[in-house]
Amino acid sequence: MKKTEKIKKIILPAVLWLLFEGIAVTLWLTKQNLFYLFNFTYIGTSLAIGILLLQFRYRHARRVAQLLVGTYMLVYLGLICHENMQIEGFWYYLFTGVFEAATIHYAVAKIFGPLVFGRGWCGYACWTAMILDLLPYKVPQQPRKKWGFIRYIVFVLSFVFVSALFLARVNHMEQIMFWAFLIGNVLYYIVGIVLAFALKDNRAFCKYICPVTVFLKPMSYFSLLRIRCDESKCISCGKCKKVCPMNVDMTDNARKRGNGTECILCYECTKACPKEALK
Ligand code: SF4
Ligand code: SF4
Ligand code: SF4
Repeated sequence: MKKTEKIKKIILPAVLWLLFEGIAVTLWLTKQNLFYLFNFTYIGTSLAIGILLLQFRYRHARRVAQLLVGTYMLVYLGLICHENMQIEGFWYYLFTGVFEAATIHYAVAKIFGPLVFGRGWCGYACWTAMILDLLPYKVPQQPRKKWGFIRYIVFVLSFVFVSALFLARVNHMEQIMFWAFLIGNVLYYIVGIVLAFALKDNRAFCKYICPVTVFLKPMSYFSLLRIRCDESKCISCGKCKKVCPMNVDMTDNARKRGNGTECILCYECTKACPKEALK
């Protein structure tokens, strides 16, 4: 590989790392809290390592980032620091008017971040998908169902649950949020694994149930980072579609392409293309 090619491959992870470092330093200084410097530096570095490995075609690159970030968020932030990063944690911090923890996490990873990196969160960081991706059905074995409405029901239920706690002026909210995090995660894993086996699709939970996609899908519609197809190179062999875990019509460059807001930027399609038509 030529030196210029190597440098080109380093640019994307370097820009991503700088972006996270900018967030880390800004939050550290504005909130006078060293935790933010550590937190966003760790996440940015983990993601940059994953993307760098991906650029150099290491087979398990995405899994490395997913495990580094997902385990950190689940074990350290969730279980040790008692931060509820689930959707109910987001409502909770939003209602208390505190721009901390879950609200910052949602703003960066799930609401404004997707305008730049689409559903990168779903491909490289989510601790639910970190487990689901270990299951045997990496590529869906059945046609997609029209069950996407379930995500809106779960979204509304989470909102109603936290609103009811606030209206009832329940005591020990922090403890309730911690238990909600534990129970919610266990339920997500059980439902996700059962659905994956029932529908022969590891990402069935992401497609039909996950309430976070109510934010992720519309924001990632405008994503700067997206798979593009060079139509002059494409021979319509269909190999790319056969490996996509999210049923995306990636050969169509339109924003409205089929399941376009489902892309998790795993780059399996680009690896499968014999003509290097996808970038
Ligand atoms: S759709 Fe939900 S569960 Fe799936 S990867 Fe994204 S955030 Fe995680
Ligand atoms: S295979 Fe391609 S289109 Fe499908 S999710 Fe991965 S990157 Fe996106
Ligand atoms: S794999 Fe490549 S050549 Fe084949 S349809 Fe997809 S983009 Fe076109």
